[in-house]
Amino acid sequence: MKKEDCIFCRIANGEIPSRTIYEDQKFRVILDLNPATKGHSLILPKDHASSLYDLPDETAAAALVLAKKLASVLRDRLGCDGLNVVQNNGEAAGQTVPHFHLHLIPRYENDGKILEWTPGKATEEELDEIKEKLTKQV
Ligand code: AMP
Ligand code: ZN
Repeated sequence: MKKEDCIFCRIANGEIPSRTIYEDQKFRVILDLNPATKGHSLILPKDHASSLYDLPDETAAAALVLAKKLASVLRDRLGCDGLNVVQNNGEAAGQTVPHFHLHLIPRYENDGKILEWTPGKATEEELDEIKEKLTKQV
């Protein structure tokens, strides 16, 4: 289902023009207007889901299969040396458009720091506590 006031619904369903590099019944893949690198693309499902939390399993699975297919296209056509697949959920994680999308960011040798974080530190106790929280039966 489409959401009327959602810009990515409107793009995915062809109501707003975009530079489309792939389209099928379930997805449209477009070039990002503010590319992190040459060829930065977005996989947009045509049905609205605001984030991974409400994405149907079937769409989640198909999106990754499509990412795999396009990874080869980006490598073969653009000659990139690597690829980041990025997916943000919620403002705290940097999501700016609340319609699920996968970023495909082709990487080139020496293209700079794009997705790096500073490795943190955790004690053995902290790691054990998190593991317990995430695995205990509720
Ligand atoms: P995120 O921050 O993960 O929600 O990513 C949103 C992405 O959508 C950003 O990289 C924007 O540059 C991109 N974007 C926003 N509006 C458009 C648009 N109309 N066409 C193409 N890309 C867009
Ligand atoms: Zn939408």
